[in-house]
Amino acid sequence: MRERQKGTNSNVRFVQVVPDVRSVLPSDTFSYTVPAEYVERAVIGARVEVPFGARNVTGVIVGTNDDVTRSDAKPVISVFDEPPLLEPYRVELARFIAMRYCAPLGEVVKAMVPRGVRAARPGGRKRQPRTVSRAVDATRATTDDRELPPRLTPAQSVAVQPLLAAIADHAYRGVLLHGVTGSGKTEVYLTAIAAVLEARRQAIVMVPEIALTPQTIHRFAARFPGRIAVMHSALTDSARALAWRRIRNGDLDIVIGSRSAIFAPLPRLGLIVVDEEDAHAYKQDRVPRYQVVDVALELGRLCQVPVVLGSATPRIETFFAAHTGRLELATLPERVSGRALPPIEVVDLREELRAGNFTPLSQTLDAALRECHAAGGQSILFLNRRGTATVIMCRSCGETLQCDACSVSMVYHAARRRCDCHYCGATRALPEKCPACGSKAIRQLGTGTERLESEMRERFPTLRLLRMDRDTTASRDAHFTIYDAFRNGEADCLIGTQMVAKGWDLGNVRLVGIVNADTALHFPDYRSGEVTFSLLTQVAGRTGRGYELARVVLQTYSPGHYSVRHAITHDYLGFAHEEIRLRKALGFPPYSRLVTCTFSHKDDAVCEAEARELVRKLSDTLDIGVGLVVLGPTPALLHRLRGDYRWQFTVRGIHIETAFPHLPSGRGRGGGSWSIDVDPTP
Ligand code: ADP
Ligand code: ZN
Ligand code: ZN
Repeated sequence: MRERQKGTNSNVRFVQVVPDVRSVLPSDTFSYTVPAEYVERAVIGARVEVPFGARNVTGVIVGTNDDVTRSDAKPVISVFDEPPLLEPYRVELARFIAMRYCAPLGEVVKAMVPRGVRAARPGGRKRQPRTVSRAVDATRATTDDRELPPRLTPAQSVAVQPLLAAIADHAYRGVLLHGVTGSGKTEVYLTAIAAVLEARRQAIVMVPEIALTPQTIHRFAARFPGRIAVMHSALTDSARALAWRRIRNGDLDIVIGSRSAIFAPLPRLGLIVVDEEDAHAYKQDRVPRYQVVDVALELGRLCQVPVVLGSATPRIETFFAAHTGRLELATLPERVSGRALPPIEVVDLREELRAGNFTPLSQTLDAALRECHAAGGQSILFLNRRGTATVIMCRSCGETLQCDACSVSMVYHAARRRCDCHYCGATRALPEKCPACGSKAIRQLGTGTERLESEMRERFPTLRLLRMDRDTTASRDAHFTIYDAFRNGEADCLIGTQMVAKGWDLGNVRLVGIVNADTALHFPDYRSGEVTFSLLTQVAGRTGRGYELARVVLQTYSPGHYSVRHAITHDYLGFAHEEIRLRKALGFPPYSRLVTCTFSHKDDAVCEAEARELVRKLSDTLDIGVGLVVLGPTPALLHRLRGDYRWQFTVRGIHIETAFPHLPSGRGRGGGSWSIDVDPTP
């Protein structure tokens, strides 16, 4: 047993440590004393071994505040690593994330540093071979086709200027690069990065999902061969740890990655690029639930480097920030090629039904497909739902097949000959009889990509088809295989979910068919209009790059909806202004922020009671003076998930952080648990 420090002593150093254990409380630092031998090395960001409960664990020093003293503080056992694991600015970034997202600091530190690095004991690490996935491999394969930069267009030269100036000044600047698809945004990033490398500094390039952006990575690798690290979400712990150490050593100058790549420890950061800044994947769905764009901007401020956010359809919050001067705005209004955006033909599916067409393809889309293929072109069919039938319904009693554990319909997959829950993975056979009334009149409703594929095979027997959705891309590198096959002309038509919506630039695509534009439209969320507009605009942008005569056919039941109307005319500004007016009228972001607290428990009544009680308490405590309102409680959108019922409430206001100290976290009534989501996205 080590001797305990008794009382405080002016010669004793104290440090605050976040231990590498699971934590739920926002303030989860613990004080330790520093033995004399470690006083020099026990600095902010250093990794330490400390006693914690009955065990010894590793942890990171996040404070050396000598006046926070605890008489029962135990001594640090040892200090690892030199230099310290985290630079002071990264500890500051961790604190920012913990505060902004009401997340435990310990969990933030864990998200920032790969497990393989955090847990490693000094000297205990063996060199592991790096598992090579094609995403990583791409950086080597392309050394041969090294590419020289084109001359920038006048619009690109203007757009890159603020970035070049900030790089020269080593100063923070937040820039929204708003450019239609194919307007040359990537070329702006590449030019800025060349300047960064010239200045002997380094860059982080964020992409929504590595597997969905093969082309972007290929272009970076071709321009800067041998200098790129790709942080792939499928990297093993040891491969990730190795990449992290190489980056930290300064061996690689450009990190391209998704999600946690924003924490890549580049020693001489000079620029942060967030491509497709509106991508859903940038909001973390686990604790800490941070939004990559906001973290990138804060990192830029802390390091005094420019941050560029690129998109054809920026989030309304981002657009608003540029509109009100918190970000600078750079615009690329036209495609590089000078080609116009493709005209979008609208098919009103209600009329199709009236004409007796109950298939997923309208006559217009059918004809367009025939014409496209007769001319030797390729087509993309976009449908944001997978499976065969998205609803299994009894025609006699109207009962639908629900998951036993979640409040959602099960989806029939003909290829697997079974029904799946897309939320919890539960499966069951397609019932022959209605479980409720015994009728055999079971009807399959709602077309998914799998049904669309078989429909296409029947209609166009000679057409070579590929399908890209979560079902066809379960194995590693499947994305790349499908993408390459399509690019190499091994298929005529690609059917896909939103996986095909972004980042693809394929010259031979002459037709994009949007099979159902409305899949996200009626989602009960204030962002459904924005999500729909972005998706439609992005999908439409997949065509018309190589061909003058490219077409987009959009099928919808809601041709009059403002999201659809503005998408059809490629009118982002028109959409944004209408959306901002709506948000203002309803008091939603960007005119407020939201924090949603969700309670889960096996018992619905317990759930409801806990949520009601918390809302009652909160309403008494909250400072209404700062304009906070509590909405709810209500059952969550997915009332039941994996067997647990969920109730939630939302606090809305400008200064929601004033509510954070009063929000429930961790365990609640009956052993259920609370989770907190700041700036939630559905
Ligand atoms: P975005 O990222 O906005 O979709 P890209 O940077 O991919 O646009 O550019 C679209 C196409 O135009 C690409 O094929 C790219 O190689 C080409 N391109 C971009 N900038 C130039 C330029 N200045 N000169 C010639 N071609 C360019
Ligand atoms: Zn029935
Ligand atoms: Zn389920």
